[in-house]
Amino acid sequence: MPHFKQRIQQALSERKAQGLYRQCTSLSRSQQVVDCQGSSFVNFSSNDYLGLAQDPELVAAWQQGLSLYGAGSGASPLVTGFHTAHHELEAQLTDWLGYERALLFSSGFSANQAVLFTLLEKDDVLIQDKLNHASLMEAGMLSPATMRRFAHNDTAALHRTFQRSEASSLVVTEGVFSMDGDLSPLAEIKSLCTRYGSWLVVDDAHGCGVLGEQGKGSCEHAGVKADILIVTFGKAFGLQGAAVLCSEDTADYLVQFARHFIYSTAMPPAQAYTLSKACSMIQQGGWRREKLLELSELLSERVESGIDLRATSTPIKPLIIGGSEKAVAVSLALKERGLWVSAIRPPTVPVNSARLRITLTAAHSRADVEKLATGINEVIHD
Ligand SMILES: *Cc1c(COP(=O)(O)O)cnc(C)c1O
Repeated sequence: MPHFKQRIQQALSERKAQGLYRQCTSLSRSQQVVDCQGSSFVNFSSNDYLGLAQDPELVAAWQQGLSLYGAGSGASPLVTGFHTAHHELEAQLTDWLGYERALLFSSGFSANQAVLFTLLEKDDVLIQDKLNHASLMEAGMLSPATMRRFAHNDTAALHRTFQRSEASSLVVTEGVFSMDGDLSPLAEIKSLCTRYGSWLVVDDAHGCGVLGEQGKGSCEHAGVKADILIVTFGKAFGLQGAAVLCSEDTADYLVQFARHFIYSTAMPPAQAYTLSKACSMIQQGGWRREKLLELSELLSERVESGIDLRATSTPIKPLIIGGSEKAVAVSLALKERGLWVSAIRPPTVPVNSARLRITLTAAHSRADVEKLATGINEVIHD
């Protein structure tokens, strides 16, 4: 197939010429330090906001889960892959987050796709915030519904979109936007949805565990209830997987018709067991959320004014640089100082808004954050 070979080579060389070529780096790590090719770095580029991924209690829970349940689930959930550990995790999530049902998925990507593909039909209108995650955008483009996107967090634009959409609509937004760390105006969005008879779906990948009472997330923080809430376990939970929180009927419907649920192996029961532990640690982990606030304040105090470090109420602190090459250069300069802060470039973020996506975690120390602030102040002007 020489045609494909040529296409691949051309796409790769274009990426390199644009300064947008990306690669995985293999790391080993303990706590918030990553080791790479003989050097260690303080990691400011994870989504492990509460520092649970390396927490000894959680690691011990997974080991215990393995002893109790074995390695894999052995099948898809409707065959024989659904175990008591999955059932208990679902019950814990519904109690905590206040829904009738929770349905587990292997990843947030598949949960998002399952919800949109299963719910939407040809005559529906799907309304999304322009900065929604790639999994939501892609599902929208592939679904038979008409997709309309509104300017980021712009409720007036959302209102206009409702006014020109006659068909029944579904509004989808993130609770916290991953590249900007800002919150969606959920209360206003919810009231527009109510007014226009639309359902609201909130993907709270970056809010659950971090915001709201007991870490219940963006919706609790904003005082609203989404019709469907998607929480993912790869961020504050420190693990992997996702859940869709919804009504009894909606869950039943997904179980019958969501291909990502039906035709995919259930997550290992040991993982579900560990997620239950993570869920309890999140609820009891008020001190972790307080520590994040404290580190957040420290960072904004110490970074010189005039540097475009966005003030956010989440652990995501974008430092906007602009050009991709400059962003990569700043990231490399920080690496020389033992600080790992990845540059995020288009197409992940809009053109000319390449940035360092700094994330704080409850496992960082004040000294780590001070070192980061000093590093930024020193390298940004070079
Ligand atoms: C990370 C993320 C996802 C995907 O979740 P995975 O479990 O990593 O597949 C979905 N939505 C948002 C907003 C995310 O940040």
